[in-house]
Amino acid sequence: MKSLIMKTSIACMLVTTACRHNSSKEDNFDWTVDRFADVEILRYKVLGFEELTLNQKQLIYWLTQAALSGRDILWDQNGLYNLDIRDLIENVYSNYKGDKSNPEFQALETYMKQIWMGNGIYHHYSMDKFQPKFSETFLVEEINQLPDELKPKNSEVLLNVIFNPETLPKKVNQESGADLIKTSATNLYGPGVTQKEVEDYFAKIKNPNDTTPISYGLNSRVVKLENGEIAEETYKIGGLYSNAIEQIVANLNNAKEFAENESQKEVIEKLIEYYQTGDLKKFDEYSILWLDETDGQVDFINGFIESYGDPLGMTGSWESIVNFKNNEASHRTEILSSNAQWFEDNSPTDPRFKKPVVKGVTAKVINAAILAGDSYPATPIGINLPNADWIRANHGSKSVTIENITSAYDEASHGNGFNDEFVIDQETKELLDKYLFITDNLHTDLHECLGHGSGQLLPGVDPDAMKAHGSTLEETRADIFALYYLADPKLVELGLLDNKDAYKAEYYKYLLNGLMTQLMRIEPGKDIEEAHMRNRKLISEWVLEKGKPGNVVELIKKDGKTYLKINDYEALRDLFGQLLTEIQRIKSEGDYEACNELVEKYAVKVDPELHKEILERYEGLNIAPYKGFVNPVYSLVTDKDGKVIDVTVDYNEDYVNQNLRYSKQYRTLK
Ligand code: ZN
Repeated sequence: MKSLIMKTSIACMLVTTACRHNSSKEDNFDWTVDRFADVEILRYKVLGFEELTLNQKQLIYWLTQAALSGRDILWDQNGLYNLDIRDLIENVYSNYKGDKSNPEFQALETYMKQIWMGNGIYHHYSMDKFQPKFSETFLVEEINQLPDELKPKNSEVLLNVIFNPETLPKKVNQESGADLIKTSATNLYGPGVTQKEVEDYFAKIKNPNDTTPISYGLNSRVVKLENGEIAEETYKIGGLYSNAIEQIVANLNNAKEFAENESQKEVIEKLIEYYQTGDLKKFDEYSILWLDETDGQVDFINGFIESYGDPLGMTGSWESIVNFKNNEASHRTEILSSNAQWFEDNSPTDPRFKKPVVKGVTAKVINAAILAGDSYPATPIGINLPNADWIRANHGSKSVTIENITSAYDEASHGNGFNDEFVIDQETKELLDKYLFITDNLHTDLHECLGHGSGQLLPGVDPDAMKAHGSTLEETRADIFALYYLADPKLVELGLLDNKDAYKAEYYKYLLNGLMTQLMRIEPGKDIEEAHMRNRKLISEWVLEKGKPGNVVELIKKDGKTYLKINDYEALRDLFGQLLTEIQRIKSEGDYEACNELVEKYAVKVDPELHKEILERYEGLNIAPYKGFVNPVYSLVTDKDGKVIDVTVDYNEDYVNQNLRYSKQYRTLK
């Protein structure tokens, strides 16, 4: 089970003006920072930071420094030429003496913003290489204008990578049939390594009887040595990315001094040990310590965590999020997690696939203080970690919903016209206005804190049995679990919803997204590849088809436009229950064939006509399909003796200045 972060920004895109639930609105706060290509950059507020103690603020300060220090690692993981291309484009941009209204220059600026968004030259979601809209001639002329020390030594190679659509076209290829490593441009594998060689290599070193296996390949680049042997280059001090990791560790050492309690200090120390040794056993020890540390208000993740960036789903992309608990909102997830066993016992799945005892599902609502690595600028809205199956089974997992991020999405989306264009009628619009914010957050809570943690594998079933479909199936499982329970009267009974029909808002939005509106993120002619998008399509298409006899859900035409119509919400919930049962069976039994069939039949192929229609309708709205964020800037305030007396937060830095600054200040590789 690898994919545990909801890499989505769509969750809150539908909410319109009427809802002002946990409103943090201040009239002069600019939620929107920048807009380019298919992206809108937002700001988020670090609500509650001022109320933290000086000690906590300093802890956060140093953890944010540790977070930002890893930036270059991710860039390099995402592609061999990323750092060189970033330097080149930023240098040309900063040294440009010509007319800034020149369309060539403006296209270069857009390209620069795009590669910042992708942490490299590939789209963060579609994984396709960005196609620059400026000419090669323009770039070559500008390179010639650069001072000698800024001229790249490998210009020709870089120009070919930037401009030739055939060269390294895709970061992660998931198309079955091809050699997934050879056809993926990610730098997690060295030149000449094949998928088969990697699979054989890990098959040889894995012990099938190990009940507490390390996460093989999580922190290494797999390469082919001169003698043809396959080997791992480990990310650690003294190994690959040493310089960046040294900076991270130096900042973690500073942070450690401000730990809120002994066990939080141990967490940081164990993480340092892991970075020093690259030993994945230590990473597991760290993960368990991290899980058990629930007393501190401040928390963070920092490391090689999610493996969406690896075509084989093993190596973790570097990321960090620093956060602190939002005590008020956490009440919601605490109620869910304290009832975890009830949800497990009452699910419609086969009793053999249920956990007899659900262990330690800790859930909380947090506010992010910094987003970094793979969580910047595009960020998750919920996290459930650790990823190792045996740790989850034996020790549970920690699950969070990032409320200041969902709230920023909500604030920024008000009045964008989306509902008027896509929602079928006034009644449904009102339903969404009233209940979508809360049911959407609850859906995330259920997905993260109960969905991923539910169920068990039958003895002897390989956790990696779903192969390339592992992420899709796991996300489907968590989402369908959440959907099923969202309509349960239990939520009203627990005081989490005040209306038994509230769930309909999320049901409508979920299917609308899965069947129609998420297609706006796909280029014409392309299939759906990203795990979360596949999972939403799988669920939505499945209930559409299975609900046909009872006319549960339908797509209808009005004035030439397609609309989603849900005729029977209760029957829809039953269908979700049936699918949950089947998905859990597939996972528990390791039934790859059934999984493959579901994915291929429901999750991948796009109806070209509907796709075209969605893109056209969407274009008229001028809403960016993807959102990213800028971080606030933290500064230590000292008195005349140099003693730290406060840490301040500033929200004024824009996207361009922030990224140019990061490239200078946190330059750790090359
Ligand atoms: Zn998930």
